[in-house]
Amino acid sequence: MSDSKVLTCPSCAQKNRVQISAAGVPHCAKCGKPLPWLGEVSGADFGLAVESSPVPVLLDFWAPWCGPCRMVAPAVEKVAVDLAGRIKVAKVNTDEQPQLGERFGVRSIPTLVLFENGREKERVVGARPAAELRSWLDSKLHAPAR
Ligand SMILES: [Zn+2]
Repeated sequence: MSDSKVLTCPSCAQKNRVQISAAGVPHCAKCGKPLPWLGEVSGADFGLAVESSPVPVLLDFWAPWCGPCRMVAPAVEKVAVDLAGRIKVAKVNTDEQPQLGERFGVRSIPTLVLFENGREKERVVGARPAAELRSWLDSKLHAPAR
């Protein structure tokens, strides 16, 4: 089963159901703008959701007990909204998906891994303010599509 979330369109407030492992960038059913693409990913849908993603993926390794993870969560969500159509944000709960944490050698959380064209491009370990996270991503992502 693939994770799906109801997300509110930042442009027109329409609620849309968005699947983390959808084949293409999700667009608002009402206004047609690209939607923020954010959801939980598991080992089972990692291939579809992350390795085969049509856009770069920001993997957020976190756990419910981790204070700094809760601090960085709004910054990560803001990136999904600000860069809608250009990035996907996939959250990995390391308590529920320890094999993914192990696969990526995640030793402390939060760890943010930028995944592009099926492989890891960069990572940052530890919480970052939203502005710093955004400028890090801007420096790593390809030229804006809009
Ligand atoms: Zn809309």
